[in-house]
Amino acid sequence: MSISLLQGSFIIAGLLFILALAGLSKHETSKRGNVLGAIGMGLALVFTILGTVLGTGSGIWNNAAPKWAIAAILIAMLIGAAFGVFKALRVEMTGMPELIALFHSFVGLTAVLVGWNSYLEPGHADKLHYGELFVGIFIGAVTFTGSIIAYLKLSGKMKSAPLTLPHHNVLNLGALVVFLGLTVWFVLLGPAHHVGGSGAPIGLILISAMTLVSLALGLHLVASIGGGDMPVVVSMLNSYSGWAAAAAGFTLDNDLLIITGALVGSSGAYLSYIMCKAMNRSFISVIAGGFGSDGAVVGEAQDLGEHRETTAVEVADLLKNASSVIITPGYGMAVAQAQGPVADLTSKLRALGVEVRFGIHPVAGRLPGHMNVLLAEAKVPYDIVLEMDEINDDFESTDVVLVIGANDTVNPAALDDPTSPIAGMPVLEVWKANTVVVFKRSMNTGYAGVQNPLFFKDNAVMLFGDAKDRVEDIIKAL
Ligand code: NDP
Repeated sequence: MSISLLQGSFIIAGLLFILALAGLSKHETSKRGNVLGAIGMGLALVFTILGTVLGTGSGIWNNAAPKWAIAAILIAMLIGAAFGVFKALRVEMTGMPELIALFHSFVGLTAVLVGWNSYLEPGHADKLHYGELFVGIFIGAVTFTGSIIAYLKLSGKMKSAPLTLPHHNVLNLGALVVFLGLTVWFVLLGPAHHVGGSGAPIGLILISAMTLVSLALGLHLVASIGGGDMPVVVSMLNSYSGWAAAAAGFTLDNDLLIITGALVGSSGAYLSYIMCKAMNRSFISVIAGGFGSDGAVVGEAQDLGEHRETTAVEVADLLKNASSVIITPGYGMAVAQAQGPVADLTSKLRALGVEVRFGIHPVAGRLPGHMNVLLAEAKVPYDIVLEMDEINDDFESTDVVLVIGANDTVNPAALDDPTSPIAGMPVLEVWKANTVVVFKRSMNTGYAGVQNPLFFKDNAVMLFGDAKDRVEDIIKAL
């Protein structure tokens, strides 16, 4: 196969990835964006495999791969595809965030293995290459262990409270300095450090030490970030996984991997920035692993006074007599899979002449855009689904707010209590409405582990039970 054909296919795949990202930025075009991304990835895979199998007579694609290597590629692809299909078929929507974190960890691990492979492979003489190799392993290792901790925290297998080791900022900074020192030493050592060279033992010690320091840094960075800040971690690891792929692209001299990695890395970094803005957190603090965090301890549910309970029939009456209703969904709606009944309730109320709108907090659920995806799946019209900034001033003039499985994102303590772990995070100011109905199963806390004073306010009533069952009860009562 000719090298120009291969490079041409890479350019087309790169363009398709850019169009995919553009498509994914709006609800209306997101399906098209996904399809374009999948076509781009298919094209990239087919031509990369063809280039490897046939050879192009130029650069790293020079010779056709030996038969055993082709067999190994196919077997690895089969195993990977079988695992991917198995996981994708079984995953619940609520399990998506941890699955994504797990996938990010694979990208990180791959970058580490690519770097190590390049070190163990004799024959590279370029000093720049040694720098690339170290940077690739560093980003990959941080992404790998960071993503595993994120997976454990998101799946509830590990406490979401931040780990606050003494002098944690110094530890992070120290690890970075050690990495830089080892990199300079490794680069200066030159070709002699390669396996078989005179400096090989030192080279091996340097690269091993750097890998261990990077693995520990990734673990510590993410473990230091507290529950409420996890959304930023998810998007940050997404960005890191992109940079890890780009670094692997440099090591492998693969332009498409560099382009794709840079696209994922920069879009993930921008998403992290948006999430930080939404949560009123400093971008630098969060990427530095809870830098500046006071380590506020998250706790159990507390009794903050009397709460009142209501029934589905009473809520149905309230809704019939309301002229404006805002629904603020949260993670509990995803757990209950209540989006279908919520959409039915919305159309019933609209048919009765009630104005119904949705208020979406940027970090509601466990995934950026989680609620938007669920509501789109249930065919709720896009024009009544509003972002927090667009709707926050309207609660005051609203008759009824239905808080369906949301907790941290409607917690007034974020604004009123400077000692709260979610202090400073903008929230949906639902308590300003006439009546607030909170759908949940108990008085338990939300993800950040902080009790919610909203539940004890005079204008709030609790509708206990599974959100899907309760919404269906209200529809029946209507
Ligand atoms: P929360 O996680 O704060 O609260 C969800 C509430 O839903 C709980 O209080 C729970 O109460 C209730 N619930 C759970 N299951 C059901 C059910 N079947 N029926 C009815 N209620 C149910 O949700 P929010 O969406 O308000 O906030 C999201 C939190 O997650 C934030 O802290 C955010 O920082 C964090 N996060 C967000 C990410 C993102 O990217 N969006 C990523 C990682 C973390 P009970 O148990 O009593 O029913």
